Amino acid sequence: MGNIQESLEYVDFIIVGQGLAGTVLANALQEAGQTVRIFNNAELPSSSRVAAGIFNPVTGRKLVKTWLADDIFPFLEKYYAKLENRFGQKFFHEIPIYRPFPNEEVRRFFQNEEIIREFEAFATIEFENSKYQGIVNNELGGVTTSHSGWVDLNTFLDVFKAYFSSKDMLVNQAFEIESIQLTEDNLVIYKGLKADKLIFCEGFHGKDNPFFNWLPFNPVKGEVLEVEIEGVHLQEIINQGAFVVPLPDGRYKVGATYSWHELDWISTIQAREELTLKYGKLLKPPFKFIAQKAGVRPATKDRRPLIGLHPAFKQLGIFNGLGSKGVSLAPYFAKHFTEFLTEEKELASEVNINRFASLYLA
Ligand SMILES: Cc1cc2nc3c(=O)[nH]c(=O)nc-3n(C[C@H](O)[C@H](O)[C@H](O)COP(=O)(O)OP(=O)(O)OC[C@H]3O[C@@H](n4cnc5c(N)ncnc54)[C@H](O)[C@@H]3O)c2cc1C
Repeated sequence: MGNIQESLEYVDFIIVGQGLAGTVLANALQEAGQTVRIFNNAELPSSSRVAAGIFNPVTGRKLVKTWLADDIFPFLEKYYAKLENRFGQKFFHEIPIYRPFPNEEVRRFFQNEEIIREFEAFATIEFENSKYQGIVNNELGGVTTSHSGWVDLNTFLDVFKAYFSSKDMLVNQAFEIESIQLTEDNLVIYKGLKADKLIFCEGFHGKDNPFFNWLPFNPVKGEVLEVEIEGVHLQEIINQGAFVVPLPDGRYKVGATYSWHELDWISTIQAREELTLKYGKLLKPPFKFIAQKAGVRPATKDRRPLIGLHPAFKQLGIFNGLGSKGVSLAPYFAKHFTEFLTEEKELASEVNINRFASLYLA
């Protein structure tokens, strides 16, 4: 065994998956001085390649701040902007979100002086519908929020794919879990490689991983449309019931559906009809259908990421469970996980998979 091990190439980390999770984690580890080898099977579907990529610090009709918004959003703005500079490519589109008031009750909520003061730093409230006349169904007015936008994840992943390939960090190959060997000195051996740790970033496919299938995944299928809207040039995302995102080529993305059944990657006529109906309630001009995509979000039962090391095999880890908020959660938690892995800093209990240790033992 000793001789075989000596002939193996050593890397600090093996990562499985080059979706958003694997990409930002590999980048964070490399920035921390670690050597990384990523295995990605491009034949397998990736949620990141379907996602609209929206980030948005406030959600719901009454604009409630999302979990950890005060920490995560300043971090992500710097993170994506810095990478755009580094690679000289545009993928971070920071644009406002306009939400028409859906009914009188929500409109009344925003008419309160205290609420207006509370939201003034990041929201403009209008009670007339002078904005987007003839385009948006906003008879009651609406709210425009900032610190939001979308990340073009296909460009983002392609940029990193080219970079990782140029550094011999990426292997375009299915990772065969049955071929791993766990050594007594807590290392992992996989096909000529020896690593300190192997981190699974498999998205929805992670629910079938024999080492982590005890974790409470709750995958959600989602579908989006790509459309053309003649004569309309929106500079903001429009969101109420559905979203309409302006794309750089003048087209729009309309989404998204949520389904907990039939967790496949097949576009359905039902989703197309649902989105067409929701679009019709939001925007006045009809659209021309161009394309449709389906994907499965790696969501979890408690809506928090799944991060950490295996309870029994400490050389195996997971970075998953980003749900429908990968764009905002991934950069922040990749750094956090990297600090845990390389500096032995504590992992936040809300994301640490050891919160489910009782399920592993069960
Ligand atoms: C319709 C839809 C809309 C969405 N909209 C948004 C949005 O607006 N904003 C937002 O933040 N999020 C959105 N999401 C969610 C977002 O896609 C996820 O949070 C995030 O992209 C998940 O990234 P991931 O890397 O964990 O998974 P994935 O992108 O699925 O990546 C997993 C990768 O692992 C690889 N892999 C798996 N198993 C193996 C193996 N054995 N060997 C080799 N490779 C393997 C796969 O090939 C894949 O590349 C949306 C998702 C959907 C479906």
